[in-house]
Amino acid sequence: MTPPFPLIDGELWAGDCRVADLVTEFGSPLYVYDAGVIESAYRRFDDAFAGVDHLLAYSVKANSNMEILSRLRALGAGADIVSRGELHRCLRAGFPAKDLVFAGVGKTEEEMEEALEAGILAFNVESGEELEALGQVAKRIGTPAPVALRVNPDIVADTPHEYTRTGHGATKFGIPVDRVLELYRWAADQPMLEIRGIDVHIGSQILEPTPYQWALDRVLDLAATLHAEGIDLDFVDLGGGFGVGYEGEEAMSVEELAALVVPKVAETGLRLILEPGRFIVGEAGILVTEVLYVKRSGSKTFVITDSGMTELIRPSHYQGFHRIEPVSPREGAAHEVVDVVGPICETGDFLARDRMLQMPEQGDLLAVHTVGAYGFVMASNYNARTKPAEVVVDGADVTLARRRETLDDLLRGEALADGTIFS
Ligand SMILES: *Cc1c(COP(=O)(O)O)cnc(C)c1O
Repeated sequence: MTPPFPLIDGELWAGDCRVADLVTEFGSPLYVYDAGVIESAYRRFDDAFAGVDHLLAYSVKANSNMEILSRLRALGAGADIVSRGELHRCLRAGFPAKDLVFAGVGKTEEEMEEALEAGILAFNVESGEELEALGQVAKRIGTPAPVALRVNPDIVADTPHEYTRTGHGATKFGIPVDRVLELYRWAADQPMLEIRGIDVHIGSQILEPTPYQWALDRVLDLAATLHAEGIDLDFVDLGGGFGVGYEGEEAMSVEELAALVVPKVAETGLRLILEPGRFIVGEAGILVTEVLYVKRSGSKTFVITDSGMTELIRPSHYQGFHRIEPVSPREGAAHEVVDVVGPICETGDFLARDRMLQMPEQGDLLAVHTVGAYGFVMASNYNARTKPAEVVVDGADVTLARRRETLDDLLRGEALADGTIFS
C-alpha cells in the first residue's frame, strides 16, 4: 500500500489530487483528509477482530466532521461519545442510537436524559455519584438506563505525554478496582439501572499491545466474579488509545493486539467493544499552510505560517510531534534547522521547534502530517481567527466537508451594548 499523502514527481498528493490544486481551489490553511486512508484503517481494525463478536465504537472526539462520521457509519462503525454535542452529531450523521456508548467523567443530567431518550447502547459510568444521578434521571423519565462501569485498572501505560495517560490511580478517570464490585452489586438492586457491561480505557497513543492485555485480564476477572454472583454482562469495552506513527514509527499492530484479546474474550461469550479514534483518522489528515515570512533573529530562523495553535494545538499542548514537508519541494534547496510558528500572540504558538526543514520561500505551502485526529476538533477562534476549511478527498473526488468560517460566523450570537444581536 502506498503511504498516505505521497510525493510523486516532486508534488504532494492526496488520493488522486494534487494538494497544491486543492489550496488553489479552497484556500489556506486547509485540512485535507483522504477517505481511502480512513477506510483502510477501519477495515484493518475490523478484520483483525473478526474472530469475536465486536463493535468498533469510533471515538468521535478525535474528529467529528459530519462527512467523516457519515462515512464511518456507512462502513459499519458505532461511536463513542462524550457530550450531548457529539450525540447530536452522531444522530444527525445517521448512527443508530443502539450503536452509541457514552463516556466522560462529567455527564450532566440533561445529557443523560437526551441519551436515554435516544436509546443508546450504554453509559460508561465513572463514579458512584454518576451512577446514582443516572438512576434518578432514568426513574424520572421512566426509561431504565443501560450501564457499564468504567474501571480504573491502575495501569501506567507508556504514552508520549502525561495528559494522555488515563488508566492509573492518580487520574480523574474511572472507578478504583477495589470499589467496582460493590457498585455493581448496588446497581444490580436498582430497578432503573440495567447492567450491560464493563469498561476500561488506559490512555492514548499507545503503541504496545501489552498494557491492553493487563487491562483486559483485570476486567475479565471482575466479570467472572460478577458472573459467580449472578450478575451477568453483555459486553466488555476495552476503550481506545491505539497509537499511530507520528515520526515514521509503526502504528499499533492491531493484529498482535487482536491475537492477545480475541481468544480471551471469545471464551467468555461477551461482545467486545473497542473505541479507536486516532488509529482510524490520525494518518488520514494533513494541514496545509502557507509560509508568510521567513524571519532570521539572532541564531534562530523562524518560518512563520498562516497556521498556529488555533489550527493545530497538539504541538503546544502536548508537545505533539508532526512531520512537516513542503507541498512542492524545490530541487536543490538548502536544509536548515528552523522553528515553524504561527501568527498568534503567544510564545507557545508553534507547529515545530528546532526542526530540519528544506528552506521554504514566502508563499510556499507546507504540509503538516498526521493531523486527522485531535486536529481540527481542537481548533479555536482565539485572536478572532476564522477556522479553516476541511476537504475530503476520495480518489479524484473532492468535497468541501466544512467551509471556511467567515467574519460573520465570528460574531454570530453576540450582542452590542445597545442590544443589537448579530445573527
Ligand atoms: C479519547 C478516548 C478514546 C479514543 O482515544 P484514541 O487515542 O483516539 O483512540 C476512546 N475512549 C475514551 C473513553 C476516550 O476518552
